[in-house]
Amino acid sequence: LRSELAELRNLPATTTDGERVRLFANTGLLADISPGLANGAEGIGLYRTEMPFMISDTFPSEEEQLHIYTQVLAAYPGRPVYMRILDIGGDKPLPYFPIREENPALGWRGIRFCLDNSSLLMTQVRAMLRAAGTGEELHILLPMVSNTGEITAFRNILTDALQQLAEEKIPVRRPLVGIMVEVPAAISLLPMWADKLDFISIGSNDLSQYLLALDRNNTRVAGAYDHIHPAVLHEIARIAAVARQIGLPLSLCGEMASDPAAVVFLLGTGIRTLSMSASKLPGIKWLLRSISAADAATLAQQALTLDNSTAIRTLLEEALQQRG
Ligand code: PEP
Ligand code: MG
Repeated sequence: LRSELAELRNLPATTTDGERVRLFANTGLLADISPGLANGAEGIGLYRTEMPFMISDTFPSEEEQLHIYTQVLAAYPGRPVYMRILDIGGDKPLPYFPIREENPALGWRGIRFCLDNSSLLMTQVRAMLRAAGTGEELHILLPMVSNTGEITAFRNILTDALQQLAEEKIPVRRPLVGIMVEVPAAISLLPMWADKLDFISIGSNDLSQYLLALDRNNTRVAGAYDHIHPAVLHEIARIAAVARQIGLPLSLCGEMASDPAAVVFLLGTGIRTLSMSASKLPGIKWLLRSISAADAATLAQQALTLDNSTAIRTLLEEALQQRG
């Protein structure tokens, strides 16, 4: 089986009825880069830049960030790399910048933190732009976006950074900018953001946590956390439909992307780009090559009629078992 999976590396993730799915890797540390390539990742769908910030003992300088980001981009020449701006706060504390809050999940995190610390953000954006140079790989991903002003404010900082670098005669190009769809409030606004965004990526971990008002790191309630909850699936189907309507490239980069039952559903809603830990890529590719997108669409419609996750999981898993 191991050698069969190895052979899979260079085969495309194409369903039995010819639908092509792009498989990307999630990374945070440079050590994750080569496993992604070894497992056939077609790009990086989520580079969690908070990782290098978390293992450092102070905010990394522009030069230090430049050094790290350059290596990440160089590993995937000509392929998309979605670099997320710093997403600390909540479950991702920075040892040298403690944030004490009663309700950290609803607090100062993601883009809220970045925009309130604009010189940190400027340093990071400059480092990303310099690392990408004139290449086309860089996609900047904004975490925890919940209102239009955050996108506008980020775009203004990006414009300033581009202008600064032009004045410094450092050749760079304007990157694509997208958001994580992970705060439920973003979903209703997507149709109004068609011309403000170049792509979107569903962060199913936080999206599930916020839709269910359920902290999956709280052992008292974590047992009830499930990204296959019907409400989560309905929202994902809605996001996929809107993205298609307004022509916005869509991916999904939470844990769902590597849960086989969830993948059947995602394929069925029309999602064609999934990003996951490198080690999960071969298994998911194997799964995708064994099912048809048309069957997945039928199963997704059926799943959306069910009122509990156990029944949904049973439906999707039985369908997978029938296909071996
Ligand atoms: C998510 O929220 O689904 C996600 C991919 O981001 P993170 O787990 O880093 O918050
Ligand atoms: Mg998240």
